[in-house]
Amino acid sequence: MLTAPDVPARGAGRFAPTPTGRLHLGNARTALLDWLAARSAGLRTVLRVEDLDPRAIPDGILEGQYADLDWLGLTYDEGPNVGGPVGPYRQSERSDQYAAVLRALDGLGLLYPCWCSRREVRKAARAPHASDEGPVYAGTCKPARAAPLGDLDRLPQKRGRDPALRFDVASAFARLGLDALTYADRLAGPQRFDMITRMGDFVVRRVDGIAAYQIACSWDDVAMGCTRVVRGADLIASTARQLLILRALELPEPTYAHVGLVVDHAGRRLAKRDGDIALTELREGGVAPSAVIRLLARISGLPDTADLGALVDAFDLKTLDPGEVKLPPPPWF
Ligand code: GLU
Repeated sequence: MLTAPDVPARGAGRFAPTPTGRLHLGNARTALLDWLAARSAGLRTVLRVEDLDPRAIPDGILEGQYADLDWLGLTYDEGPNVGGPVGPYRQSERSDQYAAVLRALDGLGLLYPCWCSRREVRKAARAPHASDEGPVYAGTCKPARAAPLGDLDRLPQKRGRDPALRFDVASAFARLGLDALTYADRLAGPQRFDMITRMGDFVVRRVDGIAAYQIACSWDDVAMGCTRVVRGADLIASTARQLLILRALELPEPTYAHVGLVVDHAGRRLAKRDGDIALTELREGGVAPSAVIRLLARISGLPDTADLGALVDAFDLKTLDPGEVKLPPPPWF
């Protein structure tokens, strides 16, 4: 069994961007709300870079994200550029820890190798459900009886393919005596996930050997002493998977608050590819960061000010609306 790592006594909030694209106004709102929630509760602020697959990170994006956050005045007590007691703060430098988490889960008999291609997963999927991660896995490679696999670096190939590793949700439920995964979201309220039928066995290590986001994120929140997770509502189903991992390993759980996503005035979700709302573009175009903070505060129902100190003083997570947040029609600045 893994022991819970030593972490600073003072808890933390965290902002955990994946540097695959430029940050946009929606990401900035999440970063701001996480930062305000942490600062107003006297917690540490952690910046964690979720660059699990460094080959997927385009040149310049990471530096752009650092510059955007600095420009907004969101400073972090710990992170890749400032260091800290529970680093490294880039996931690409933490793969040995994720391997240990996978070994611990395997010790409980909760993993199995899966040789299915994406296409095979889609074809065999139980219609009509699809989870946020795609089709619910039909269990094609699932063994009749769960057992530890042993050396996870020497799993056999099948049909010339290396396997991914999947997490056996039903075995974890049986172990924990669960019939659904439940938790109380600090913003979205009580949550219940019928994970076996609605989500299925999810990938925890990719075919190329890289740990999946669910492993890295759940472990890092614990290992970095992040006690309060504030993140976008698109990740609420991931929370079920992450909590199941933590509960199976008997590790401490952070609290979670999922904040509504930002949509444009026409109701479309913002995407990193939409250059017009990229922070880098605004920064380089001469927009004042105070104007951005003020816009974000206004759409979030916070005091109409760009003064971060005043926003910290007035902040109360419970007053946020967990629903989608609409930007007014441009121009905003
Ligand atoms: N890295 C994830 C993203 O950029 C967020 C992870 C998290 O906040 O837990 O979508």
